[in-house]
Amino acid sequence: MNMRSISFRLVAWYAGLLAGIFMLLCVVLYLDLRHFLEKDLAESQGRRTRQIANTLLVHVKQTGEANVASQTKDWYEPEINDRFIRITRTDGTQVYVSGTPNDGSFDPAEVPVFPPAAETESYRKLKLSGGKTLLVAALNFKSSGNPAYLVEFGELLDPVETMLNRLFLQLAWGLPLAIFIIAGGGYLLVRRALTPVEQITRAAERITQHNLSERLPVSNSGDELERLSISLNRMITRLDDAFQNSKRFVADASHDLRTPLTILRGELENFAEDPRLDEEMRERAASLLEEVVHLGKIVEQLFTLSRLDAGEAQTEWTRFDLAELAKTTTEQLHLLAEDKGVSLSCNVSQPLPVKGNHVRLKQVIVNLLDNAIKYTPKKGAIQLRVLAVNGHAVLEVEDNGIGIPADALPHVFERFYRVDQARSADSESAGLGLSIVKAICTAHGAEVEAQSTVGCGSCFRVRLPLSRN
Ligand code: ADP
Repeated sequence: MNMRSISFRLVAWYAGLLAGIFMLLCVVLYLDLRHFLEKDLAESQGRRTRQIANTLLVHVKQTGEANVASQTKDWYEPEINDRFIRITRTDGTQVYVSGTPNDGSFDPAEVPVFPPAAETESYRKLKLSGGKTLLVAALNFKSSGNPAYLVEFGELLDPVETMLNRLFLQLAWGLPLAIFIIAGGGYLLVRRALTPVEQITRAAERITQHNLSERLPVSNSGDELERLSISLNRMITRLDDAFQNSKRFVADASHDLRTPLTILRGELENFAEDPRLDEEMRERAASLLEEVVHLGKIVEQLFTLSRLDAGEAQTEWTRFDLAELAKTTTEQLHLLAEDKGVSLSCNVSQPLPVKGNHVRLKQVIVNLLDNAIKYTPKKGAIQLRVLAVNGHAVLEVEDNGIGIPADALPHVFERFYRVDQARSADSESAGLGLSIVKAICTAHGAEVEAQSTVGCGSCFRVRLPLSRN
């Protein structure tokens, strides 16, 4: 589970917040209920003390204390009902005290004498030796013409405690269960709500510069995600327009530059060979001619790239033998390698049928061999190998030339990237050869990669699917 995902964080917050609120509610409920039940018990005991005072003690002069004692015992049956009743005179002597309850839950003798209190009615909680708690209400009875008495009426808090303990237990397992169910449900809901985000992410990952016409799915739900998809789609449309404009610009510019450059080149060739001009002028014309040739090459490469961007390599596909193409291309570049003083060999073991644009795939081999020849010093060796590996034709161009530094290697397929301008300065390079290779490979569903060590040499590898029929 991804703990940094929105769904996890939302649910964690939501469950944490709910747990906090529930716990607070439970604590308040528990304490409030305890207070209410104790108060209710105390009030009902208070009522009973008043009952004894107002119905029995007010007539004590006429009926006698013995009658009060026997009536109290008859009315409340304290031993049967587990109650404590005590009527005490002001000198501390007792008129009546209830006996030990039938279940022996407490001993009335243990209940200390109520300390003298100013208020008429009061109550207190007593912890008894057996761990039980007795709630006792007390009434100071004073009436003109009668002696004063203290009436005490008590009951055990056990039933209240039992009920509260039960509630506590129910909350203790019920609360985590409720939070677990709420969090689980919340997680499912959030996952469902975020499903369109997954779809948008997957679609966005598929969109590259080659398929900018594709769009993200729009859910029609009227929510924020629908608005997000629509906004992103508009952004992709703007990017697509900008990209198409820039491609059109390169295509138009390179196309329009070709004709004037050809004319310029022809004129300069004439000047460079014109016997009517003096030596210096002819040399100048020859030097300008070199620059124009270089410029022409760059324009040609740009033109090729713009045609590849427009999908040219995906047309005119035929089935042909890549091994044969490698052999003939190597033979054609033999002279160039010889001039440079490097050896060039081609190893092919078997015919390797592939499908693609023959002209463009030949250009891949030419560009790779051309680079190898360019960047391998005299007496160096270049090997072209073509072999079948796991249903793919693998074409390798390996040289023992100057190599490419590790920090430059990831960039060599970028447009206009040159490793070190100083080492390419003499040559007519513009940093477009390998980007053409990359564009052709991409159009053929092929992969191209480079390995290199400075001073030891480089190896460029192209993996192209073999054609079965
Ligand atoms: P360029 O036309 O400048 O050669 P490329 O795109 O073909 O442009 O190559 C990009 C850079 O990669 C070059 O500047 C060169 O330094 C380096 N490079 C390409 N192939 C090789 C090779 N076989 N050996 C050493 N460096 C190479």
